[in-house]
Amino acid sequence: MFQQVNLASAGIERPLDILAIAAHPDDVEQTCGGTLIRMAELGYRTGVLDLTAGDMGSRGTPEIRIKESNAAACQMLLAWRGNMHLPDARLENTVSVRMSMAAEIRALRPRVVILPYWEARHPDHYRASEIGFEACFLAGLKKLDEESEPHRPAKILYSSLYANVTPSFVVDISAQFERRMAALFAYDSQYGEQPEASDLFPQQQEIRERLGAIARFYGNLIGVKYGEPFVMKEAMRVDDITAMGVRSL
Ligand SMILES: [Zn+2]
Repeated sequence: MFQQVNLASAGIERPLDILAIAAHPDDVEQTCGGTLIRMAELGYRTGVLDLTAGDMGSRGTPEIRIKESNAAACQMLLAWRGNMHLPDARLENTVSVRMSMAAEIRALRPRVVILPYWEARHPDHYRASEIGFEACFLAGLKKLDEESEPHRPAKILYSSLYANVTPSFVVDISAQFERRMAALFAYDSQYGEQPEASDLFPQQQEIRERLGAIARFYGNLIGVKYGEPFVMKEAMRVDDITAMGVRSL
């Protein structure tokens, strides 16, 4: 129901409120899935656009990853999920890739876009961030393509869970944590108990403990059990300094 091979952006009925863009299926589940679930529970239309189908992964095939990403989409209560089927592990920021993504953004019309943090160990992750940002800019240019309406998202946020930088803010995902783990474990080819390549892929219990510890760390920064961190480049506007959350003492 979610996956569209020829996008721009097939299957979309109404604009999205929030679109998360990521390099690989299962990136969003690890970095901002709890926030997407929380926003869906608040009534917002959320979506995910994955750039690759993970064809270089040691386990599974692109077909299996797509099927699993649809199951994860259900767990995350997404209104839409698509995959651009760009080459995994050799993602390049070319004019044609930027233009294709700009066409998706015009079709999906999100108010908020979540991108990977712009510095990362995996080249696909920082390229996805760069491509996403530049595509959001292009999507707003009137003369880009006469056939479609220009659209520029109001806000770009960077999910910084793996970046080890001070977040601009943290979203409380305590009530969404279990659902987020269920979304991640929908990728049975990656996280199921299998003998092949097992030293690369820790068992589910180990993953649960690791992601739980990271979520606890960020939750602790805002005084809740589990949290997901984000960075934004703009300053945060505050209208009433007596109503700010998170105690100092
Ligand atoms: Zn990834």
